[in-house]
Amino acid sequence: MISPHLQFDTVAVHAGREDLAELGVHALPLDLSSTNPLPGIEVGGLSYESMADGGMPTAEGGAVYARLWNPTVARFESALARLEHAEAAVAFSSGMAAMTAAILAAGTGRHIVAVRPLYGGTDHLLSSGLLGTETEFCAADEVAAAIRPDTAMVVLETPANPTLELVDIRAVVEAARGVPVLVDNTFATPVLQNPIDFGAAMVLHSATKYLGGHGDVVAGVIACSEETAAALRRVRAVTGGLLHPLGAYLLHRGLTTLPVRVRAQQAGAQQVAAWLERHPSVARVHYPGSDGDPKGLLGRQMRGTGAMVAVDLRGGYGQAAQMTSAVRLFTHAVSLGGVDSLIQHPAALTHRPVAAEAKPAASLVRLSIGLEAPEDLIADLDQALTTPASLSQQVVGAAEGRRERLRLAAG
Ligand SMILES: *Cc1c(COP(=O)(O)O)cnc(C)c1O
Repeated sequence: MISPHLQFDTVAVHAGREDLAELGVHALPLDLSSTNPLPGIEVGGLSYESMADGGMPTAEGGAVYARLWNPTVARFESALARLEHAEAAVAFSSGMAAMTAAILAAGTGRHIVAVRPLYGGTDHLLSSGLLGTETEFCAADEVAAAIRPDTAMVVLETPANPTLELVDIRAVVEAARGVPVLVDNTFATPVLQNPIDFGAAMVLHSATKYLGGHGDVVAGVIACSEETAAALRRVRAVTGGLLHPLGAYLLHRGLTTLPVRVRAQQAGAQQVAAWLERHPSVARVHYPGSDGDPKGLLGRQMRGTGAMVAVDLRGGYGQAAQMTSAVRLFTHAVSLGGVDSLIQHPAALTHRPVAAEAKPAASLVRLSIGLEAPEDLIADLDQALTTPASLSQQVVGAAEGRRERLRLAAG
């Protein structure tokens, strides 16, 4: 265990690597074994039993089978737990697999309270009732009234996807009166916010986004107490939504640059958001603090404003369609949090399955700001907002955008 007194950036570089020196290696080992040699029937069987029940492999019996445990995944989990001030973490094949495990661990037939807005996929999963739970959606200040004796979990996101609204985690935890609160911390990352410090029982990440940061991993992870982790590991071992070790390797490597990336992307986003505030085509900018922070959460709960920005366009859906097809440096694509900037229309894409009463506005466009020079991003948005629709679709187009990026890369 590395010292508990180190700064966040130091922990991001060193956590989860405690056994490397003993192994005689410096870089993270990538163990791709799907199965493991058994030292004996009985010791192997006891280790299997321990892991199928959510526990650890025994020293005598080993990992047995990769659906139960993998050392590369376990190292990433221990690093993420440290960064989230949690006892443990459990990694999954996607953010939605992580959410599914949390719901299954809560228990079939139970009641869930969910604070809207949420990521479209989470909203869809909860409203579908597919996993045998009943969900009541509400606003943050309605949680106390929504709690029932059979409520097993409260779910919230802050900043929320896609409107960047901030939710007071401690206030919701108090309103939940002992019911565990799961906070989706995907947008803030542990660099800017640690929900466990405010009483959250579970912190979920779509690791596909900032934790991976390079657009090449799909993964999810939940940081929580050791007791909750055992329940989640049990669900994972039984249902099989596990993270591939290569994904865990890339995520663990990505954690080392997470603080640097998030702060640099945030600095760019602040410039882009300030520029958008002054643009005549923009009716409203959604960015933490742009509403004056009435709940006083910046500084107290969240250590920064992040790198996600959304805008309401005066020209509505038509202008959104024009803008998203006219960008050249931004990629018109869903997902977020990577080193390159993305733009997308939540109502039509990420939040398409959300019920009409909670769907994002047709005028809303969401931007994920990457590591490019903010001046270049602003110039791209400027031309995309001024290009006439006919020209943007016929002349510029997605193919031209790709060629432009190649020219930039070459030059
Ligand atoms: C993308 C996302 C998810 C879902 O994660 P996947 O890795 O795509 O399954 C959950 N929550 C938020 C806030 C997201 O942005």
